[in-house]
Amino acid sequence: MKIGIPRGLLYSKYHAFAKTFLEELGAEIVVSPETGKQILDEGVRLCVDDACLPMKVFHGHVSWLKTRCDAILIPRFIGIREKEYICPMFCGLVEMVSNSIADLPRLIDTPVYSTDRDRLYEWAKKTGAFVTRDENLIAEAFGKALSEQARSKPGFSGDGYAYKAGLIGHIYNISDRFVNMDLINKLNALGIGAVTSDVIDRAEIDAEAQRLYKKPFWSFARDYYGAAATMCRAGMVHGIIYLSSFSCGIDSVVIELIKNEIGDFPFMVLKLDEHTGEAGFNTRLEAFSDMLKRRIEIGNHLPSYGKCRACGESPLRRA
Ligand code: SF4
Repeated sequence: MKIGIPRGLLYSKYHAFAKTFLEELGAEIVVSPETGKQILDEGVRLCVDDACLPMKVFHGHVSWLKTRCDAILIPRFIGIREKEYICPMFCGLVEMVSNSIADLPRLIDTPVYSTDRDRLYEWAKKTGAFVTRDENLIAEAFGKALSEQARSKPGFSGDGYAYKAGLIGHIYNISDRFVNMDLINKLNALGIGAVTSDVIDRAEIDAEAQRLYKKPFWSFARDYYGAAATMCRAGMVHGIIYLSSFSCGIDSVVIELIKNEIGDFPFMVLKLDEHTGEAGFNTRLEAFSDMLKRRIEIGNHLPSYGKCRACGESPLRRA
């Protein structure tokens, strides 16, 4: 059986697990290529207009796969933590795809609740049944897939750069070089290393999220807020860049929560959709880079929540 895996949404998080699991069951895996203009244009054409860019990109990947495999894995992530959810778009992903794209092969659409090992194993048993009836083989493949996943180390630490910027936002925007217009390399060329939330201890992220007056309902909100607050509080970065999807409801709330928490710490929001122009994007990056460097020169140290550690004043205000 040839199974297609779309290189979109949370692919960069789970691909080690999914690929190992399905290959161990005997399936042949076809992964769609990296996003390019053709995939984006196809996704925009097929998907409903008011969906966010990552959903449109995902539609483009599914469309690329539809004539190249016997079944397509559509991971309908519902929850990865108790009493938290991913995003309403993920819950309706299968319906969106199957109503927007004609002549699809079979969809492997088992909902994913990965709140603990047992619930993830339930997903593995149901998904494995698309390929084999051998329950022992499924159990063995599941164990191997977990080990492979544990070995994969996503994320960027910004090591080797004198200036560092926290890069907060959806992993599918951060990992897709076409969608984010090669943001990480552009930052590096400006002498800035990107630090992503994957390199932060989960316990620290949770502790920051715990300070919110209301428990986050969306896991993405917990992660992004917790990571941004940790980076600022620990002085890990000189500024924060939030890579946001236009029309994402979660982003619109998290951005305000972060702004409220970090005060005048350098913070820039870059919004992405299919109309985002590269020239304006580059100009904003250069301006942010200049501001970070100037601020550090004036304050002669790492800003802490936008304040000089020595005197408590804002370096920019003093300037
Ligand atoms: S979290 Fe936001 S960007 Fe991600 S799929 Fe949902 S609406 Fe789109």
